Amino acid sequence: MDKQLKLLIGGSLADGGAGTFDVVNPATGKAFAQCPKASEAQLDEAVAAAKAAFPAWAATDAGERGAMLAKLADALEARVAEFASLLTMEQGKPTRQAMGEIIGSTYVLRAFVDKRVEPVVLRDKGGKTVTEHRTPLGVVAAITPWNYPVMMLVQKLAPALVTGNTMVLKPAPTTPLTSLLFAELASEILPAGVFNVICDENDLGGKLTAHPGVAKIAFTGSTATGKKVMASAAAMVKRVTLELGGNDAAIVLDDIDAKAVAKKIYEGAMTNAGQICVAIKRAYVPANMYDAFCEEIARLANEAIVDDGSKQGTTVGPIQNRQQFEKVKELVEDAKLHGKVIAGGEALDRDGYFMPPTIVRDLPDDARLVREEQFGPVLPVLKYDDIDDVIARANASEYGLGGSVWGKDLTRATEVAQKIDTGTVWVNQYLAIDPRIPFRGSKQSGLGTELGDEGMLEYTQAHIVNAVPFEDA
Ligand code: NAD
Repeated sequence: MDKQLKLLIGGSLADGGAGTFDVVNPATGKAFAQCPKASEAQLDEAVAAAKAAFPAWAATDAGERGAMLAKLADALEARVAEFASLLTMEQGKPTRQAMGEIIGSTYVLRAFVDKRVEPVVLRDKGGKTVTEHRTPLGVVAAITPWNYPVMMLVQKLAPALVTGNTMVLKPAPTTPLTSLLFAELASEILPAGVFNVICDENDLGGKLTAHPGVAKIAFTGSTATGKKVMASAAAMVKRVTLELGGNDAAIVLDDIDAKAVAKKIYEGAMTNAGQICVAIKRAYVPANMYDAFCEEIARLANEAIVDDGSKQGTTVGPIQNRQQFEKVKELVEDAKLHGKVIAGGEALDRDGYFMPPTIVRDLPDDARLVREEQFGPVLPVLKYDDIDDVIARANASEYGLGGSVWGKDLTRATEVAQKIDTGTVWVNQYLAIDPRIPFRGSKQSGLGTELGDEGMLEYTQAHIVNAVPFEDA
């Protein structure tokens, strides 16, 4: 890549004070660009710039703030192909999926354009009034993962900005470039300091969350890092939203066609090479259709075109980084000891981090691939006989992000869905995330809400004004 992207601090595009680092294309395993690396002094400058910009931004009319989100969406839309191409290079996903992420990101920005947080009158009687106002918090530290770098950015930026906060974003070190390209575009639209972007090599996240100038942390990433973020927020009782890992179960009911449902579950498990927080990570299938389901999903996996995401026709790209590639390989090797691999199972013998779609059957529930979050193109298919038993097995996880139930009888499927202990359960669909619908995890999958009106309120402080007429003694 010829162009050198820059950090955004206080409205100025800046080189990295700590030099640069390599960004690797996961389809080749080779560096294709350099990313500016922020120094600690630049982190301080970014927080100071966001803090300085906050009073004027908070005082700006909400309509004007919303209009700027609309301009960001328009500018992003005008450069979809450029963003998607860079996204495929740094993240690995096939071009069509990369286009989908960028277009989806414009929807998210636009979903918040007209959102307003109005005061709510809780009581108004005999001159006595209780009103709940909502005020912005200040500087939001946004920390994002490497699977959907642009989508995760806008899901935080749009609600934070429309409610009057300013932001310092730190993207994941292996996918920083689309965030920097977005910063370039934002620098022409937003007032200086409202949005700042710094990049690191996994060394500034802790310093950013601990920074005294930060009022709220909006974090998406692994549960392990989320725990560190929460501990760091405790020191100043900072507001925190955590969107963490998942181990979503798909429960297939016995009134559905095995072949048709296998296709849907395959897609729910393998989109973005399985690197989605709410990807289907375990499939539970009734005993009487288990063999037919396994045969069909293995067939679909064997049909996948696994290649560089920038090549036309590729359906499954590489795993995003070497560390994750090694983890997925380790889980597959462990699964071979306890179950039967019926598709995939060996990393491709070529440069880059390619694992073909892998299906494993006959695993016990205590196998690592069933208990842990694989975050890769590998799916265990598990057999069940009894519906109550399978609900208990699906719920036996420290995670509680998403899940799905598949059945012809919608009432029955919905009843089963209500018994799944996760933030979201989809019925006969998957990955149906909508910026107007709140999204959250139960148990160790998260804390707080992102998206929807409820998610937006997490960027505000409730402020009660309780007034009664003064009475002379
Ligand atoms: P990660 O936890 O390794 O990293 C996430 C971000 O945290 C990165 O920007 C990283 O640099 C930063 N970070 C590292 N150490 C930090 C620290 N001590 N303090 C603050 N920040 C720090 O996660 P990842 O591997 O990039 O992403 C994959 C994980 O994200 C998976 O578990 C996936 O399920 C989860 N995820 C969750 C959602 C959701 O909405 N719930 C969405 C996408 C991904």
